[in-house]
Amino acid sequence: MSSVSSRRHAIVIGASMGGLSAARVLSDGFERVTLVERDDLPGEPAPRRGVPQSRHLHGLLARGGEAYEELFPGIRDELIAAGAIAADTQSDIHWHFDGHLLRPDPSGLVGLAVSRQLLELTVRSRVGALPGVTIIDRCDVTGLTTSPDNRRITGVRIRQREGTAESVLDADLVVDAAGRATRTPLWLGELGYPRAPEEEVRIQLSYVTQVYRREPRHLDGRIGASYNYYPGQPRGSFILAQEDNRIILTLVGIGVGGGEELPTRNAAMAEYAERFGAPEIAEIIRTATPLTEPVLMRYPASIRRHYEQLDRFPEGYLVVADALCSFNPIYGQGMTVAALEALLLSRLLREGSGEVNRRFFLAAATMLDTPWGLVVGNDLRFPDVAGERTEEMSAMDEYLERYREAAAKDAVLGTELLRVANMLDEPARLMAPDLQERVLREAGPVRRASAA
Ligand SMILES: Cc1cc2nc3c(=O)[nH]c(=O)nc-3n(C[C@H](O)[C@H](O)[C@H](O)COP(=O)(O)OP(=O)(O)OC[C@H]3O[C@@H](n4cnc5c(N)ncnc54)[C@H](O)[C@@H]3O)c2cc1C
Repeated sequence: MSSVSSRRHAIVIGASMGGLSAARVLSDGFERVTLVERDDLPGEPAPRRGVPQSRHLHGLLARGGEAYEELFPGIRDELIAAGAIAADTQSDIHWHFDGHLLRPDPSGLVGLAVSRQLLELTVRSRVGALPGVTIIDRCDVTGLTTSPDNRRITGVRIRQREGTAESVLDADLVVDAAGRATRTPLWLGELGYPRAPEEEVRIQLSYVTQVYRREPRHLDGRIGASYNYYPGQPRGSFILAQEDNRIILTLVGIGVGGGEELPTRNAAMAEYAERFGAPEIAEIIRTATPLTEPVLMRYPASIRRHYEQLDRFPEGYLVVADALCSFNPIYGQGMTVAALEALLLSRLLREGSGEVNRRFFLAAATMLDTPWGLVVGNDLRFPDVAGERTEEMSAMDEYLERYREAAAKDAVLGTELLRVANMLDEPARLMAPDLQERVLREAGPVRRASAA
């Protein structure tokens, strides 16, 4: 049975990073691709209502940089020409992992500091210029249309912001890229399909973000700093230079187990940064010129939906990016995963139209296992975060504790850790015998009897 009846028209719900990446690859195989977006899409780098996270710091992982370059050749140079900053990820950013400063050293791992708003606008301009692609904004997708037996999705119902009447757009394939606002579980339930098993890891995360004018003295000329939260220290911060002499600063707090409310006033924000030992962050909050008001965003839980485990799923329908799996954002994986899923979809469509959704969900599930495992494994270090813990996980935690300690002295360990965090290598790389030897040399053997 073919899950895509023909390749005349594909519709993508949502024109954010997930929808735009999907549309880019669909345009290779479909005569027409229509993105339907409920927001009024700005013609300049600016925040918008449907993507509230675009006001907050977004880091693009190195693997993501590669993937977007593959999808949009030359985009890296285009972003740099527009003001994005390319810099060494290890020497130009100070990484404080569990209170240990990763030894700063040139790593050859070059990252791109760019605002989420400029990145999305640049990607959107590229997609909008593709032959056969139309982006309709100020238009809500309100439901799905189906074949009489409900076995195939045949299009979407839409309502334009200005008008009131609903209309129908027909399609051979509909892709849900509506992010965390996805209505797929509801819509498919109404059509008589079972709900996909969901994994949810509740972390009650909060972000407070403010943008400042960047001065050469900030961070001693470096482009960024990162202080993660960890057991015993539920507070953290990220700061990153952006185009146009700006620097974006985010305070973060994990709220499970009685975490505190994040401050949104200047003096209290600086005190908060001091409490987790980040005087350079506090100093910027106290002295830099603010360009925006502080904004607060809450992120209650990471959510993963296992559509690959369903026996029945309608033909002509797919779910991608955050609508499929939304990760705790402190690990900066969402945009990278969105691009990797698009590349996966591209490969599967080249291989044929048969059961494309089943093949996509299965392959995406395998691909998601690694970033999801990394996020969940880290968050489960907090005793109050609910979830299954294994002996293997506590042995790994113990090893990584010593690894971070050793990486404060041995720059090679830092580079390898950043390669894994940037999705360039599998986490298993950190267990390689040569790295274990380095850890042993710098941080000594496992101390707790409980560790495996
Ligand atoms: C606070 C925060 C910080 C983050 N930091 C990072 C980071 O550092 N690095 C990183 O890679 N990722 C980060 N992410 C994740 C990243 O923002 C997302 O993974 C990325 O935007 C891809 O999401 P998406 O396109 O699937 O959904 P979204 O970005 O949520 O977009 C969904 C789109 O669908 C539209 N839409 C929704 N419903 C409808 C409808 N019914 N009809 C029409 N349109 C609709 C919305 O308006 C929106 O444009 C962060 C997320 C948060 C919350």
